This record gives sequence, C-alpha cells and structure tokens, in this order.
Amino acid sequence: MSTVATITVPKSGKQIKLPTGLFINNQFVPSVDGKETIDCINPATEEVICSVVAATTKDIDVAVAAAREAFNTTWGKHVSGIERARLLNKLADLMERDAQELAELEALDNGKPLRIARDFDVGDSVGCLRYYAGWADKIVGQSIEIDNKTKFAFTKHEPIGVCGQIIPWNYPIMMWAWKVAPALACGCTIVMKPSENTPLSALKLSELIVEAGFPPGVVNTVPSLGSVGGAALAAHRDVDKVAFTGSTLTGRKIMAAAAESNLKKVSLELGGKSPQLIFESADLDQAANWAALGILYNTGQDCTAGSRVYVQDSIYDKFVALLVTKAKQLNVGDGFDEATTAGPVVSKAQYDKIWSYIDAGKQEGAQCILGGEKRPGKGYFVDPTIFTHITPDMKIVKDEIFGPVLSVGRFSTEEEAIKLANNTTYGLGAGLHSNDANQCMRVSSALEAGTVWVNQYNLLYNNVPFGGKKQSGIGRELGSYALEEYTSVKAVQWNYGEKLD
Ligand code: NAD
Repeated sequence: MSTVATITVPKSGKQIKLPTGLFINNQFVPSVDGKETIDCINPATEEVICSVVAATTKDIDVAVAAAREAFNTTWGKHVSGIERARLLNKLADLMERDAQELAELEALDNGKPLRIARDFDVGDSVGCLRYYAGWADKIVGQSIEIDNKTKFAFTKHEPIGVCGQIIPWNYPIMMWAWKVAPALACGCTIVMKPSENTPLSALKLSELIVEAGFPPGVVNTVPSLGSVGGAALAAHRDVDKVAFTGSTLTGRKIMAAAAESNLKKVSLELGGKSPQLIFESADLDQAANWAALGILYNTGQDCTAGSRVYVQDSIYDKFVALLVTKAKQLNVGDGFDEATTAGPVVSKAQYDKIWSYIDAGKQEGAQCILGGEKRPGKGYFVDPTIFTHITPDMKIVKDEIFGPVLSVGRFSTEEEAIKLANNTTYGLGAGLHSNDANQCMRVSSALEAGTVWVNQYNLLYNNVPFGGKKQSGIGRELGSYALEEYTSVKAVQWNYGEKLD
C-alpha cells in the first residue's frame, strides 16, 4: 500500500498529507512480513478517512531492536539532560506550529470538537512537553552519609531503558504526550502503540520527532491491534517497562504478560466509576455545572467521568432539576461544526456498548429522565442520558460505561454518602461539593481515589500527579511522580578509607 495518504478536512476542504507506514528508526516503513492495514473511521459520518499499516509481532521486534540500539548508542546515558530538554522544547514548538493540523486529524479520527482538540488536547500536550523539558536536567539522586571517615554512598536515577507505551483512543494526543514526555526527559527510548481506533495523530507526531532532531530509534510508532502489537510489547523480553492506559481488563493481561516474560516494570492507568457527592451546603448552581461537565466532557469517554452522582435528600429535587437544565445545554454533533460542544463516540463498538447499558438501565428499573433515545441517521451520536431511582446492584451503577450516561442517587448522611461513593472496585477520581470546610477535609480523606476534586471536577494539570487506587491502576503520571516510572535507582557505595585485615 501507499505509505502516504491524502486526507481531506471537512468544511475547509484543506488536504493533509500523512505518512501511513510504521515509524521505525525515524523512517516510515512497510510491515516486514504483513499486509494487514487498519481503517480509520470518521465517527461523525462512518466514512473511512484512510488506512494505515498494522504492525505484526515481527515489526514489534524490529521496533524494539531500534529502540534498544538508540538507547545503547545515542540516547540513554549518551545524551545530557540539557540536550534532552532542548529537543523536548523543540518538539513542543513544532506541535504549537502545527496545532491546527494536529487538531484536525484528532477531530476526524476521534470525533471530538475541533476547537477543543486544538485548545485543550494539543494545548495541554504542548504544556506537558515543556513541563518535562524542565525536568530533564534536574533528575538527581541523593548523597548518603554512611560514616564520617571512610564511606559514603550516592544514588543515580538512571533511565530504565526501552519502554513500550500503549495508549487508548479517548485522548490520543494527550495520552501520547503524558507517556512520551517523561520517558524522553528521563533518557528512555520508546515503542509507542497508539489505539487502532485513532492512530493518525501519533503518525503526524512521528514526523515532528524527525523534524525536531531526535536521533533514529528514540521514538518508534507501531499502529497495531491490541491483541497483536500491544500483546507483543507487553510480553517482549527486551522491553524494560510497559506503560499502559486503557481498560482494567487489558491492564490485567498486560501485568500477567509482564510477569510471565521478563518481569518488566509496569504502570497502569485504568478505568473508573467515579462518584460526585453533592452536599446540602454546596453552591448548587456551581455543583450542577461541575457535575454536568464531569460526565459529559469528551462525550463521557473519560476515565475519570463522574458517572455516579449522589445528592443529599434535602436538595435532591432542586439539584436534579438544575442538572437536567445544564445537561440539555450540551450540543452533541459533528466535531467540525462550530456549535458542537461534544462529538460522537469513537466507534461502532463503543456506540453499541453504551446503548446496551442504556437498555440495561431501563430494564433494571432505573428511571430515565433525560435522553435514552437513539437518533436516526449516520454517526455514532449519543445524547446526554440521566438515570434516577438507581440501586447499587444495577449494571449502570457498577460498570464503567464510557459514554454520556449518568446515574443519580441520594443519601441522607455524610457517612452514607462516603459508603456509597466507595462502593466500587475502582478508585480513579471522586468529587465532592460542599461549603463546609471541615466536611470537605473529612470527606476528601475518606474517599478512596487517586484524585479528589473539591468544589470542581475533572481538571488536570501537568504538575499534579494523576493515577488510580484499587483496580484503577498502578503508578502515577504527571508531576514529578512520573519520573519514578521511567527511572531505576542505582546505589553506588564508596569506600575511601576502610581496609580489610
Ligand atoms: P483498551 O484496553 O481496549 O485498549 C487500550 C489500548 O490497549 C489500545 O491501544 C489497545 O490496542 C491496547 N490493547 C488491547 N488489548 C491488548 C492486549 N491484549 N495487550 C496489550 N494491549 C492491548 O481500552 P480502550 O477501549 O482503548 O480505552 C478505554 C479504556 O481506557 C477505559 O476503560 C478507560 O477508563 C481507560 N482509560 C483510562 C485512563 C486513565 O488514565 N486511567 C485514561 C483514558 C482511558
């Protein structure tokens, strides 16, 4: 197949030329042994945008070998932190220059509104690269005194090596930046496997890797099916670390493959079923804004989606009415329409999964007070859907739906609210809305989650760590904490005086 596709951007008619081969050693190449391709679908129209080469297990071997060679010769311990910072900043400059085109590819492939893709997905990713560029020459160990006369020790935080990075489709550019930026800052080399649903932005970013001046093999990109390329990376004996964002089901497989192969280091950012608690002292209008944003941003395809809202009895009716009003303001449509505030969901599979949950909610006796009706015509559109009269055993209350579907329950006491919130196997995000400061402290301590938002929801910053408790994950991304995921601590013990008899 051709290794360059010409993609036409809706509305503007602009044409983008994009390499569609595997990106290994700074070149776009065909598969060594396969002819498989992946069709990229525009979820707003269900039309094929283009096809890209799908990596086989052998291609993964080639990409890992390229990453190993770069680690041993030009990157790893062979490049200074100052140089790593310079290259990361250069890459950030190029992303900023090409922000519009990156956003167009993202909006086409994923469906999200173009403006949001440009201002938030690309904008925050540029910030992420710059944040870790700042860290690249500040990764330092400790000097440890052993005795005052003959011995001391010091630690070095060395790059862990070749990293397999496997990312999902809901924030393709941002998940790329969250993984690539700290790994490069620490001196690691990378084999990146984007989601088969959304490989286009990772290919465009690969072009920028070359332009920025990274040596060949430092970043390699291998679009592939998860069960092929992702599984091969997780099981590879020459991969030192695998960083994964995706479902809890896949996370389990990755951890098992790591254990059965070479016990590589693993970090997992997994699913969630995050609660938001609305207490009677809260500013109800504000709380309704955050609760609506919490479940509807990115059409609910958000690992931290606040998909369970629990409201104190005394304000229940008033709050639910406000929430419905806010949710109705969402304008679900084609991401290339200016008025659209939320796009379609990413794929037919995701669309069918969401509808199976909406049907289950109705069958199990929850009351659907907003949405819940399919639209006619093309495109994987799902309107905001709210269920009330829920019980803890319902599927819509227990499972991650990954769509704009909200379950609303009620509570009378703080204790009951905490119990309901923590009644889940997940522990990614949680929110609470209250104007009682003591209550905010008590409840935020009691909530079992990697992030607790107080009087806000779903905001992320590059300098604040992010990750899950319970079955929502292992390890942390963002902030200085992510550096620990990509470094290995070496202790050097030094004798400058003790003699053995
Ligand atoms: P997924 O687990 O199906 O796929 C994620 C990635 O893993 C894809 O690149 C896929 O190709 C790959 N993969 C699939 N099977 C694999 C296997 N056997 N071995 C190795 N790799 C494999 O998840 P998804 O449907 O792409 O994404 C949605 C999920 O991601 C949701 O559950 C969501 O909560 C989670 N998510 C979590 C975070 C977070 O930071 N915690 C962020 C975004 C998404």
